[in-house]
Amino acid sequence: MSEKWNITLKVSRQKEGETPHFDEYKMEVDPDEYVLDAVERVWAFMDRTVCFRHACHHSTCGACGMRVNNVEKLTCITSIRDMCQDGGTLKVEPLRNFPVISDLAVDMGSLYNRLEAVGARSVLPVPEAEIEKPASTWDPADQQYIRLADCIECGLCISACPSAATSSGYLGPAVLAGAQANGLKRNPELLQLVDAEDGVWRCHSAFECSAVCPSLVDPARRIMNLRTQVFTERFSRLFHKA
Ligand code: SF4
Repeated sequence: MSEKWNITLKVSRQKEGETPHFDEYKMEVDPDEYVLDAVERVWAFMDRTVCFRHACHHSTCGACGMRVNNVEKLTCITSIRDMCQDGGTLKVEPLRNFPVISDLAVDMGSLYNRLEAVGARSVLPVPEAEIEKPASTWDPADQQYIRLADCIECGLCISACPSAATSSGYLGPAVLAGAQANGLKRNPELLQLVDAEDGVWRCHSAFECSAVCPSLVDPARRIMNLRTQVFTERFSRLFHKA
């Protein structure tokens, strides 16, 4: 028989125009269940109005990011045992630095748009004629976008980033990591975008982003590398002009 815990799930609630508040739900759980299972149980058996995002349930889609007991987590792979204890409280809130749509669901549009702006779009445009062929044979002219390997666009890094909290225009860790993967060489538009107040220079090297990333993208290290790329590009341009 599996172990059972009694916990209180505190869910942040906020519908349009409302001030955020918490609703509490008492439930029996297997501590080896995931935080997302507890949230789903509320929706399935206690309160159909709770709104949250989820899809794959195996850390691939990046949809179920939330703050759990004040830390950014991908809730489909975060066990209840790791976040509280028998008789304890599990507090779930929406990610920070994104507009809240409803309860735990946030609008990730700014992340997707900015990834596209730096050429690291999450959905690759594959020409219809190429779809049936192996990717290795696609026309290089169509390979203008490089998706950042391993990033699942979950937004945890942006929620955890203290610099993102100070400027809504900041490109943010995942986006700068995408730019780093694409590289600045011979890309003046990208250089201009990242060599800016809301680009690499907004980062204060807190490394909070890398600490919460569930995919080991290590965006902070990539931002440091992108700064080096900015210096190199600027110097090489000066030299070239001289
Ligand atoms: S860099 Fe990591 S934390 Fe940030 S969006 Fe990508 S996978 Fe999520």
